[in-house]
Amino acid sequence: MMQFRKVALVVAALMPTLADLVEAADNRPAKATFGAMTLGSSQEPQPIGFYAKGCQAGAVQLPYDGPSWQVMRLERNRRWGQPQMISFIQQFSRDATRDGWPGLLIGDISQPRGGPMVNGHASHQIGLDADIWLSPMPRQRLSGEEREKLAAVSMLKKGEYLTIDNRNWSSGQARLIMRAASYPQVQRVFVNPAIKKKLCETWTGDRSFMGKVRPIGGHDSHFHVRLFCPPGVANCKAQPEVQPGDGCGKDLDAWFAPRTVKKPTSPIKPPPKPRIITVGDLPPACQAVLASSARRGDDNMGMPYAPLASADSSVGTPITTLAAYREKMTGPAAMATAAMPENPSTVATAADPAPTSAAAAPWIALPEKVPVPRVRPVH
Ligand SMILES: [Zn+2]
Repeated sequence: MMQFRKVALVVAALMPTLADLVEAADNRPAKATFGAMTLGSSQEPQPIGFYAKGCQAGAVQLPYDGPSWQVMRLERNRRWGQPQMISFIQQFSRDATRDGWPGLLIGDISQPRGGPMVNGHASHQIGLDADIWLSPMPRQRLSGEEREKLAAVSMLKKGEYLTIDNRNWSSGQARLIMRAASYPQVQRVFVNPAIKKKLCETWTGDRSFMGKVRPIGGHDSHFHVRLFCPPGVANCKAQPEVQPGDGCGKDLDAWFAPRTVKKPTSPIKPPPKPRIITVGDLPPACQAVLASSARRGDDNMGMPYAPLASADSSVGTPITTLAAYREKMTGPAAMATAAMPENPSTVATAADPAPTSAAAAPWIALPEKVPVPRVRPVH
C-alpha cells in the first residue's frame, strides 16, 4: 500500500497542472495551429482582433461556384469568412456582372478559423479581407486542377517599373475596382501603385470613393477588399479611417520617385530572426475559437451554390484539363467594353433581377499564353 502511495505521489508530481496545460497551449505556433484547422468553429460568427493579428469565430464558407463567381485555389481551404464578407462577395459579383464583367475569380479570404497563415498574407486573419483576381471569370466552370494551376495575369509590363500593360488592363478592371470601393461596408481596396495611378489619371466617373483605393506593393494581378469591423463587435479592432481626398497626390508620387540606395558605411548585420508568433500572442478569445467543435454539417469542400443551382448550370460543364482550358480561353480577344457604362453609379440598381447567368455576360478572353504560377508577394 505504501509502495502504491509513493508511486501515486511521484506520478502526481510529474503530471502537469491545468495551469501548465493552458500555458503550454498558449505557446503553440499560431501559423501551424490555425493552418491545421480544417473547419470553422460552431460559435456565433465574430471577427476577433485586428486584420493582421486575430482569428474568426463561426466562419462561413463561400460556395466554390456561384452564378457569378468561381473560387480559385480550393486546396488552400481559405474561402472562409464572416457572413458579412460572404454576402458582400455575392452582392459584388452580381453587381459586377451587371456592369458587364463576366464574373469574379475569388482568391484567398481566410482560414476556417482565421489566424496567421503559413504562407501568403500578413492580414486576412479575421474573415473581413478577400482577394479578387483582375482576370475575368471564364464562362466555363474550371476544374479543380485548373483552379490550382492557373496563374492570375499581371496588369504590369514585365521588366518595367510600375508600368501598366495596356494589353491586359481595360476599363473593365477599372470599373470593377471602383465598384468594389463604392460599397459602404468596404473600408479599403488595395491595388498596385501603378493601378492606382492609372485610376487617378483615367477614371471619369464618381471619384468620391477613390480615396479608399490604396496603393500597396504586389496586387498587380488581384486586388484586396477589406471590410470595416461590423458595428457593435467589441472584439474587432478597427483600422483608422483613410485620409480624406482621392489619394492621387503626393503620397502616390512617392511610389514613382527614383530611389537612391545608400551605400552602407559599416558591414551589414543580418536582421534578427523574427520571433515565432504563438497562439498566446493573439487575443485570448482565439483560444476558445481553436477549442470549439466544428459546426455540424460542414465539410471542407463546402457546398455548391445550392439555391441558384439552375442558373449555376449555365456556367457549363467542368473542363478537366489545362489544355482544354487554354483552348476555350483563346476565343475573341477583344474586351467587350462597349456595353459597359463608364460609371458604376449610373448602373440601374433599383430592381434585383434574377441571378445573372454567365452566358449572358460578354465573353472576355485571357491572354493565350497561361503564365506559370508564381509566388505572390506577402501583404
Ligand atoms: Zn489580400
